[in-house]
Amino acid sequence: MKSAIQYINGNWVSALNNGLWDLIDPGTGEIIQQVSYGNGADAGLAIDAAGKAFYAWSHVNCYARAEILHKAATYIREHIEAFAADMIRESGKPLLEAKGEWAVSANLFDWFAEESKRNYGRVIPANRNDKRMTVIHQPLGVIGIITAWNFPAYNVARALAAALAAGCTVVLKGSEFTPISTVHLVESLERSGLPAGVLNNVNGDSASIGEVMLNRPEVRKISFTGSTRVGKLLMDGASRTNTRLNLELGGNAPVIITEHVDVQSLAKGAVLARFRNCGQVCVAPQRFYVHESIYTEFSEAVIEHTKAVKLGIGSDPATQLGPLINARQREHVLHLIRQARDEGAELKTGGAIPSDLQHGFFVEPAVFTNVRQGSVLTKAEIFGPVIPLISFSTLEQVIGWANETEYGLAAYAFTSSLNESVQLGEELQFGIIGINEWAPHGTEGPFGGWKQSGQGHESGMEGLHAYLETKLISIGSIPAR
Ligand code: NAD
Repeated sequence: MKSAIQYINGNWVSALNNGLWDLIDPGTGEIIQQVSYGNGADAGLAIDAAGKAFYAWSHVNCYARAEILHKAATYIREHIEAFAADMIRESGKPLLEAKGEWAVSANLFDWFAEESKRNYGRVIPANRNDKRMTVIHQPLGVIGIITAWNFPAYNVARALAAALAAGCTVVLKGSEFTPISTVHLVESLERSGLPAGVLNNVNGDSASIGEVMLNRPEVRKISFTGSTRVGKLLMDGASRTNTRLNLELGGNAPVIITEHVDVQSLAKGAVLARFRNCGQVCVAPQRFYVHESIYTEFSEAVIEHTKAVKLGIGSDPATQLGPLINARQREHVLHLIRQARDEGAELKTGGAIPSDLQHGFFVEPAVFTNVRQGSVLTKAEIFGPVIPLISFSTLEQVIGWANETEYGLAAYAFTSSLNESVQLGEELQFGIIGINEWAPHGTEGPFGGWKQSGQGHESGMEGLHAYLETKLISIGSIPAR
């Protein structure tokens, strides 16, 4: 893999300051390779290129844009094995998850290719006969995309596919921890005939890149996927420049398990869902509220399934749980585990660095019982392989507890009662609700958080509209007939 991973105006280039970043394999803790690591100066050049390319790209017919996006989807599918292997090396995630993520990323390009053909406006009956009012939606301009490492391809693809489909040009800054997956996405579009300048990729000092994106008027919107902390920094900056923002931020998803469920099969599903990507998922089911009548049975089953989870290197097909992304993230999780114990929660299994996996950033999957509402495991975004189990007695009580959070991204509930599912769906204050399922989000549906979890949406028809401006065209002085 090349080290010059910045892509500006159709050329693969090093950072202007010749800076390099040590890319580390989270499974071994070893350096995989060095990649270019620049700063705002590189972003400035990328914005120049994207700004120049915008007019022509925004006038390419949507069917021609769609063709390029479809080709990129095909290219990804043709290279899925190699792309997945690289993703595993830089993110640590297990093989099946890496392949699944690339498959979903390809689907995003196909879906937005078709959605670009449905950028419908509307004709409004005016209140005067000499007037015609039409609404059209036009591409915003240059879009800055900044994303997190937890889904190195998916986080990028959902914003990138939509922005390109809408007719925008892009300056991309994927996560410095997973730059190779970003490169594969760019390559897929380059090989599919995307004109030079339409997509540009930078890697480097994020604060200065973000600052340049905010300060340049050509950048009409920043699509940001990452922490609530950085999202707020961007909001501060955007208040100066009025740059639009799409913010996909942190989460703290509650799971409500009523007494009307199949306890054994749900416990198995809960363990699988919670430990996907080592718990590093913004919509990860995190706080498990279990009805008191089934609390003991459910807890015992969860502990048993958790003990059976196979930890290991992502490339081993038997691995179910890989490492955390880096040492800082592992320390964050270990710190929460210590805090939870100090608060009196009972650690039933896991929670330590495994003795046979000392290299890399592994933590044994942990289960806590007797977790108190209001304690750290119910409040913080854990982003790691920890299951806190909390007992509840009434639906009203647990809906209140579930909503008692600054976050509002995803929530899950399990019940065979139709009335309960209606009540839960309507009263949980989150942007994405899964009733009797662990994967409520999808390419075709809107993905977005309430409260501190974000603003705006990616995916779905809302995802295309995120990259369009609305314009009213009113034609007056039309003679009476
Ligand atoms: P992060 O906020 O530290 O970093 C995200 C991105 O922002 C990275 O590319 C980083 O380089 C960049 N960045 C950091 N400081 C910046 C600055 N000052 N200006 C501009 N860019 C800056 O987040 P992370 O640790 O990489 O990711 C984990 C977080 O992302 C979690 O909170 C998770 O919930 C969230 N996330 C949300 C979604 C969603 O769709 N809502 C999806 C994935 C991850």
